Amino acid sequence: MERFHPRLYVACSFQKEASVIMDMLLRIEPSARFFTLDTDLLFEETYETRRRLEERFDIEVEVYRGPSLAEQEESHGPELWKADPDACCGIRKVTPLKRALSEVDCWVAGLRREQSDSRRFASKLGYDELHGLWKANPLADWSEAQVWAYIDKHDLPYNPLHDRGYESIGCTHCTLPSEGRGGRWADAGKTECGLHG
Ligand code: SF4
Repeated sequence: MERFHPRLYVACSFQKEASVIMDMLLRIEPSARFFTLDTDLLFEETYETRRRLEERFDIEVEVYRGPSLAEQEESHGPELWKADPDACCGIRKVTPLKRALSEVDCWVAGLRREQSDSRRFASKLGYDELHGLWKANPLADWSEAQVWAYIDKHDLPYNPLHDRGYESIGCTHCTLPSEGRGGRWADAGKTECGLHG
């Protein structure tokens, strides 16, 4: 915050890490800036969590999205998430992220090293070559238990899908209840959406 605010932008996917990061950063800087990538295919519980957090902290999270689902179907055919999930994530997540990051110097995400093999080297602050700016993962070395302890201690709103077996939460078409990130693109041999390299 000291180094980058207000050219620092916090990505929120409204999983448990977002609740913690939002609380921590707003304690440090009440005008911290937050954004979300709305794929239009998120769970109702995720939208509700966003509303509850915005109310709790009296903030507005800025929203970035891709083309409408109708436009997507017209140009790419039906059910792109099944036919080509990389292209679907590209249109609905990666391109809107680039727009969100185009005018800041640092972004913040909720990656934790224990979430998956591909995240085990996530750094707390490093240069993001993919997007050409700095990136912070303030919870990189936090355990699942630490995240829940923080949420409990501060009585934070969190996504109720976590209580129903979803350890990781993305779009409705591509998320099943599972431990770790095993429920993400479970049938597609895909593990990341492309936002984090
Ligand atoms: S997670 Fe699935 S539905 Fe969401 S943008 Fe990626 S492929 Fe599309």
